[in-house]
Amino acid sequence: MKAPPPSTPYLLTPGPLSTSALTKEAMLVDWGSWDPDFNQMTKAICADLLALINDRDDSYVCVPMQGSGTFAVEAALGSLLPGSGGKTLVLANGAYGQRIAKIISYLGRPFTLLDKGDFLPPLPEEVALLLQGDPSLSDVVVVHCETSSGMLNPLADIAREVQKAGRRLFIDAMSSFGALPINAEEIPFAVCISSANKCIEGVPGFGFVLVQRALISQRKGVAHSLSLDLYDQWQGFEHSGKWRFTPPTHVVAAFASALAQHRAEGGCSGRLERYLANQRKLVSGMRALGFKTLLPDQWLSPIITTFLSPLDPCFSFAQFYELMKERNFIIYPGKLTEVESFRLGNIGQITPAIIDELLAAVRSSLDIMTITGVVAN
Ligand SMILES: *Cc1c(COP(=O)(O)O)cnc(C)c1O
Repeated sequence: MKAPPPSTPYLLTPGPLSTSALTKEAMLVDWGSWDPDFNQMTKAICADLLALINDRDDSYVCVPMQGSGTFAVEAALGSLLPGSGGKTLVLANGAYGQRIAKIISYLGRPFTLLDKGDFLPPLPEEVALLLQGDPSLSDVVVVHCETSSGMLNPLADIAREVQKAGRRLFIDAMSSFGALPINAEEIPFAVCISSANKCIEGVPGFGFVLVQRALISQRKGVAHSLSLDLYDQWQGFEHSGKWRFTPPTHVVAAFASALAQHRAEGGCSGRLERYLANQRKLVSGMRALGFKTLLPDQWLSPIITTFLSPLDPCFSFAQFYELMKERNFIIYPGKLTEVESFRLGNIGQITPAIIDELLAAVRSSLDIMTITGVVAN
């Protein structure tokens, strides 16, 4: 007898996230990794991703890479930063910026770290000054939406300063790509990295790097690693249309379906509209319950929001997590070094109606913990 399907909770985490039935169904087919139909699917995905950055003159290429998003970040940094004779400015204000610095130190390549802590953005004028002060800086890496706090960094203004200073910009757009616009004609960049399981709403299993053709063409033999050699991976696709090593076939099929659904929703702008409606309802509803956001409104992203934990001694995140899970919501712990917090994401197959259910679940969980009025940290 067939077991009943497990009840699927809503994931309020920024990837993996709640996916549609269509996306899940796309994984019911087994694909041969050498089959021309599968290769065609990969090619179509890359063309769709390039269209999202508005690459009209074919100056960028798209290179998918197996693994989670970090594998794609490490592949991009190891393969596309200069092998020697360059130095990288890393802009960090949270865990993902710190991770980029850690990857570059593993690579043993020189870098300067601008660390703004947990809740301040790197400012365009600071970037301009640092670039002016150190002519050896060749490349800059910025995180678009710093998922550890939810902060939306001022990407467009930073990109302008980097371009003015004649340096290359790498964007970790993992949690923003597909919702927040990254138009290559408006935001000058050399490299942009994202993955299958964030705003395009696929399932986890690969990342992708959008890179200027002129840059990747110069990077033969630079990578520190065979499996993460983005140049070699690109050449594999160019010459045979195939992934060099076993591709996550079901994940690719799910992603192709997710991209079609993204288009049907109105592309980045349609998706952004739904995420914004979710986030506005989430933040105003949580504030009405007494919670405070870590960040002022100016820096909130329509992706994920950090809330400060209540000061009430009856509040425990572990119990709150369990109570929310009983109510079918998987929430996300905080990732801050200084204050107690938790995070609620609003990307994936989440709608304002589900946010209403979420707010009711928060209210009833607080009641069980006997917290009547939330006084935030
Ligand atoms: C999700 C994410 C990554 C990649 O994380 P993985 O766990 O390796 O998928 C990198 N940067 C940012 C900003 C992210 O949100």
